[in-house]
Amino acid sequence: MFDELTGNSRVKAVLKRMLVADRLPGAMLFTGEEGIGKKLFALEIARALNCRTPRDHEACGVCSSCVRIRKLNYPTRDDADEWTQIIWTDHPDVGLVVAPKRVLRVEQMRQIEKEANFRPFEGKARVFLIDEADKLNDASANALLKVLEEPPRTSYLILITARPAMLLPTILSRCQMIRFSPLAPAEIESHLVKNDIDKKTARVRARAAGGSMGRALSGDLVTFTSQRKAMLKVLNALVLSNDRAQLLRSAEQLNEAQYKDEFEERLDVLETLIRDAWMLSLGVDTSRIVNEDLSAELKEIAQQINPGSAGDWILQIEDLREQLIVNVNKKVTTDSLFLVMAGDVAAGKRPKIR
Ligand SMILES: [Zn+2]
Repeated sequence: MFDELTGNSRVKAVLKRMLVADRLPGAMLFTGEEGIGKKLFALEIARALNCRTPRDHEACGVCSSCVRIRKLNYPTRDDADEWTQIIWTDHPDVGLVVAPKRVLRVEQMRQIEKEANFRPFEGKARVFLIDEADKLNDASANALLKVLEEPPRTSYLILITARPAMLLPTILSRCQMIRFSPLAPAEIESHLVKNDIDKKTARVRARAAGGSMGRALSGDLVTFTSQRKAMLKVLNALVLSNDRAQLLRSAEQLNEAQYKDEFEERLDVLETLIRDAWMLSLGVDTSRIVNEDLSAELKEIAQQINPGSAGDWILQIEDLREQLIVNVNKKVTTDSLFLVMAGDVAAGKRPKIR
């Protein structure tokens, strides 16, 4: 059944090997950009573990267990209390928690601890997904650590995040990390066509989706396109014009109230642009970059970019994310991020923001 999931063949191979050897870790961390199928893969693992008629250690996809693990019963109202509880599938052994109001709560982790200690009600394994694991705060992370320390053999925890750098080292060290890659535009395109989207639209969406199937499917490309335009301006100012005034304007815009909820998304977008330019500068083919539709602009940047700096910028963005956990002043930190990055270009040095 893994073949029905799009992309990430390396991840499929790794998970398959673990299933075959009966060595699936009790705690795993699925990392990689939003919308590339981490949750679907986690559900597929839950199905493989509970399938009644597995085929070569994979889920059959048609038995009653497989069918009931297909979908999560999300609450229908945004303000429902159920968001703070485990959200179950139609199978009594498989559920997930999400971060209500952007924080994963202690009570949710205690519920998981309690449920993880039960033996499976019906299937062979209990599987709990912790979505947006980067939204754990100190208290809920500590509550989760208790379960991670010795998960019962029949229970599996799968943490999911696009921002692993935000997790405490104590959590990271107890989970087996599985890294997902952004999807290639061609992989997204063929999936869209399979889902009855006409070829031309599929092509445009796949190329503008920045490697994210979720984005290509949701069709909310307007927001993404404007985010990407803004972040491309930042990269241009850094690499081509070294325009500090533009950088400060961009930093300011990033902190404007209307974009408050987009702050992290915008950083993500900036990161994919830097990665693409970096890869192009190393001679990688344009078909392998995420923002393939911007390859002309990115090639220009790639000619001027110093590969060492690109790596450092990504580390600096990760640093900034870590600082955001402790609620630093975003405005000050973003200013300093962009200026340090700019200083890096001018002096060819490797400064750190602290
Ligand atoms: Zn099955």
